[in-house]
Amino acid sequence: MLIYADSGVVVEYNGKRIALDPSKEAAATDMIFVSHAHTDHMHRPVASRARVVASMETLRIAEARGFRYPNATHEPDPGVQMLNSGHVLGSRALLIDDKILYTGDICTRDRAFLKGARLPRCDTLIIESTYGRRGYRFPSVDDVVHRVNTLISEMYSKGLPVILMGYPLGKAQIITSLFRHWEPLYIHESVARINSIYRELGVELGDDHAVVYSSHSDDGRDDDGYGYGGLKHGPWLMVAPKQSNDSTFVRMMKKRYNAVTIAFTGWALAPWHTRLHDYTIPLSDHCDFDELVQVVNACRPNRVYTFHGFADEFASHLRGMGYDAEAIGSNKRILDYI
Ligand SMILES: [Zn+2]
Ligand SMILES: [Zn+2]
Repeated sequence: MLIYADSGVVVEYNGKRIALDPSKEAAATDMIFVSHAHTDHMHRPVASRARVVASMETLRIAEARGFRYPNATHEPDPGVQMLNSGHVLGSRALLIDDKILYTGDICTRDRAFLKGARLPRCDTLIIESTYGRRGYRFPSVDDVVHRVNTLISEMYSKGLPVILMGYPLGKAQIITSLFRHWEPLYIHESVARINSIYRELGVELGDDHAVVYSSHSDDGRDDDGYGYGGLKHGPWLMVAPKQSNDSTFVRMMKKRYNAVTIAFTGWALAPWHTRLHDYTIPLSDHCDFDELVQVVNACRPNRVYTFHGFADEFASHLRGMGYDAEAIGSNKRILDYI
């Protein structure tokens, strides 16, 4: 049975209730699954006996981000299996009783050190649909790397520094790994914090030669070729959290160093997004539209539920393909019996 509680989706299986990425601690659940350590998939633990199940990597990253789960394990109950979902380090999908498959956030393509997800057949598929609209088709990672290397070299030849931007957990580590060969390389402190956890968890990002940029190093000195922010004059590359050209940080970087911003997101394909940065590059940690359809076809489910992003559009596209599909809404209601 699948129930939509106000905290998220709850699956009832063998008399046990499993909450999937609840936004808050769901009452009367036996197990809470946290698919990965992005804040929209985590909850604040309160006093409860419910066990949190997540990968070892997710628990470690969650802890570093201030989410400590006292009753956590990376060993799910018998009949429940965690599978790689290819989204960020440690992200998992959940397979229950070989029948119900919950994807969490999912990406099927290999990127730098991350392997894309391969999911099995199932009876009921609960799939994210962030880019579940026709037209969201991402270029290959090789094409993205080629295009961005060309852009960076163009900027370097004009003496301009470049700031590469992505979400601090996940995207920023992929960017670090793909573009680490540019020098001098700076890593913004909030990205460096996550990079060091990745390193601790055995992922070699190859950024040992990088200098951590701290906003506190903005001490006004200007000697030996360094500017106000402790950064060298002339071209350099920085990996920083994604923020718009209107942000205080970018405005300061432009004023002092003429820095050029390149943001990495699947929303690069949305017209409203391209005004926020100098360049926006479609590199995502999610499936694009075609890949979402491929996942559904590979799982061959009898029933599909879609959530996140274009959930209604994707469900209706799947119905057009002959699937029994429905978007999971935000109302509290019982959805189905399986
Ligand atoms: Zn995510
Ligand atoms: Zn998400």
